[in-house]
Amino acid sequence: MNRRMTLALAGNPNSGKTTMYNALTGARQRVGNYPGVTVEHREGDTRHNGNDITIVDLPGTYSLTAYTPEELVARDYIVEKRPHAVVNILDATSLERNLYLTLQFMELGVPVVLALNMMDSVHKQGKEIDTTLLAKRLGLPVVETVARTGGGKKELLEEAVAYAEERRGSWEPLAISYGPDLDPVLKKMVALIEESRFMVERAPARWVAIKYLENDAQVVKMGERHDAEVAGKLLKMADDVARHCRSTLKISPESLIADYRYGYIASLMKEGVIKTIRPQERLDFSDQLDRVLTQQFVGPAIMVGVLYAIFYVTFAIGEIPMGWVEMFFEWLSGAVGGALPEGLAQSLMVDGIIGGVGGVLGFVPLIAVMFMMIAFLEDSGYMARMAYMMDRVMRAFGLHGSSVMPFIVSGGIAGGCAVPGVMATRTLRSPKEKLATVLTAPFMSCGAKVPVIILLAAAFFENSAQVMFYTVLGGWVAALVVAKLLRSTIIKGESTPFVMELPPYRMPTVRGLLIHTWERAWAYIKKAGTVILGISILIWAMMTFPGLPDKDVANYQAQRTIAETTLSADALEERLATIDNEESQHALQHSVAGRIGTTMESVTQLAGFDWRTNIALLGGFAAKEVIVSTLGTAYSLGEVDAEEADGLSARLASDPSWGVATAIALLVFVMLYAPCFVTVVVIARETSWKWAAFSVVFNTGFAFALSVVAFQMTRAIMG
Ligand code: GDP
Ligand code: MG
Repeated sequence: MNRRMTLALAGNPNSGKTTMYNALTGARQRVGNYPGVTVEHREGDTRHNGNDITIVDLPGTYSLTAYTPEELVARDYIVEKRPHAVVNILDATSLERNLYLTLQFMELGVPVVLALNMMDSVHKQGKEIDTTLLAKRLGLPVVETVARTGGGKKELLEEAVAYAEERRGSWEPLAISYGPDLDPVLKKMVALIEESRFMVERAPARWVAIKYLENDAQVVKMGERHDAEVAGKLLKMADDVARHCRSTLKISPESLIADYRYGYIASLMKEGVIKTIRPQERLDFSDQLDRVLTQQFVGPAIMVGVLYAIFYVTFAIGEIPMGWVEMFFEWLSGAVGGALPEGLAQSLMVDGIIGGVGGVLGFVPLIAVMFMMIAFLEDSGYMARMAYMMDRVMRAFGLHGSSVMPFIVSGGIAGGCAVPGVMATRTLRSPKEKLATVLTAPFMSCGAKVPVIILLAAAFFENSAQVMFYTVLGGWVAALVVAKLLRSTIIKGESTPFVMELPPYRMPTVRGLLIHTWERAWAYIKKAGTVILGISILIWAMMTFPGLPDKDVANYQAQRTIAETTLSADALEERLATIDNEESQHALQHSVAGRIGTTMESVTQLAGFDWRTNIALLGGFAAKEVIVSTLGTAYSLGEVDAEEADGLSARLASDPSWGVATAIALLVFVMLYAPCFVTVVVIARETSWKWAAFSVVFNTGFAFALSVVAFQMTRAIMG
């Protein structure tokens, strides 16, 4: 029989859902050894015994109460889409804690199949789990899996399909006792709900009643809309019993409910579910490592060391292939330039396309190396430790421990992107902390800023790794200081407490590392081939048109003729080069872009930016990658002697209008000014257009003020 079937993977964060999803569907979604990677659900297909099966990867949740956006996404999916079965992935190394969610599925009544994942780790701890016994006590199929190697995935599919067919979409809610204080009220609420058919088409009566006791914001709101009268009665019942619980037991109904659930699970786990085969003689490996790596003083010191090492290694390894790529593009522009006749087409190809896109692609090897190391930090579990250690710091600046992840995703270790970074703020519960995080995450060193940093570092400083390190650090300082500023002025308010679990350390798999590295590098390359190509051509056109008036062209031609008749061969060559250079500079200045850049110069010169830099920075509003490509185009348009062209860095270094002060000012500005267009759109979506506009205006003003200070100070100090 051929059927279509939908199975939803659900479970606690970090239990291996995405890994299982990838194993089942052959997809290559990001897995990460820290909570909060999946916020939206995604779907993929697989086949099993002639059945077409859609697998859905839901965000990780600890409960089904509407506490966090993840919980809402997961719950709404299950309640509204009614998958044929929920495949509950559990981290079997902490079975009791993971069963808390399972129990809530059972109370909801949806068909559930359990995958006890990470069985390899359980065995390593010298333990066994009696799945037959557990399955009998729960009344649900239980399968042992190792998602990482795909172990047990076939059995899991088989069980899930068979169970879904057996249940035929029927929901069978489990009713557990919540004790003498809540049970009588629950009974009355259920009676009322059933009798008035209140929201019955959505969820089981008892479940709705429990949600009222738990004071679930979403259910309360929907109930209000569904039938305000019944909703009012239910709310009153819930309020009364809450007051009663608080006065007699000094506890809220929510906590009471949680206590009874844990009690129920404890009774399930009693006697023989987990068996210890070999006693564990030493401390768990993760705990041992954490004694050092998250130690109060040593931990942060190691963290800084690790970050520095990343930059050091990136440059030490990455520079070699980067040289090759640069050489290739130089060869390419030489070859293409030679093949095409001088004129517009040649200029478009060589200056516009190869100069622009090549400038961006030149950084691919370096960025790939860096991505690889960041992927290692994520997958190994160290990233979560960094978040943990930074929590106290975050708090001091009016942010939240969970703000660390958006910062890191945005480029807190260089090479991220503010777009997913801003989206990652969805894990923040307090709207004020979320807003402060959204507004400051774009200060981090995203992958598009990295080439600018590398370019300037190579041109004006001795030690590139050091420059990178301090720039990235500078991004953090700016983010934290601005966050503090915002949180003590326009977004004042209390801080909320932080709970985050530290996942165990795990050796990342080579496959996982390569997938992560490739995904990010590919996203970067794709952008170079599309958005950046388009903007490069646009900017090239703005820098080319309108051309010089005939009168000026004739004037330069006349100068050449004079030189040819009056100078000796040696002097002539030099003189002609100078004339060519003057002409192209003049032409560039005469172009649309040149005029815009020149007009702005009167202000931007305070920070040492000339009109060519202005053009590049304007382009950077569209995408920060464009900064380097535009500088490349602007400075190759002014190029005269092809033999001297050894990279943009060298060109900038030898340009008389550039210096260390300009470089520092530009670094400051690029790090801090308006987020790129896509980020602005995402900020608007996560907050409002008002705040998105704020981030453009405020960041640009702030960046400019700081870069003026940086420029003037450096110049004063260096004389
Ligand atoms: P999710 O948050 O539930 O989607 O979890 P992920 O799929 O992102 O996995 C979290 C971490 O657990 C990753 O580092 C995985 O490599 C690792 N992992 C997943 N399944 C297993 C397993 O069966 N055994 C072990 N040892 N590690 C696993
Ligand atoms: Mg996931």
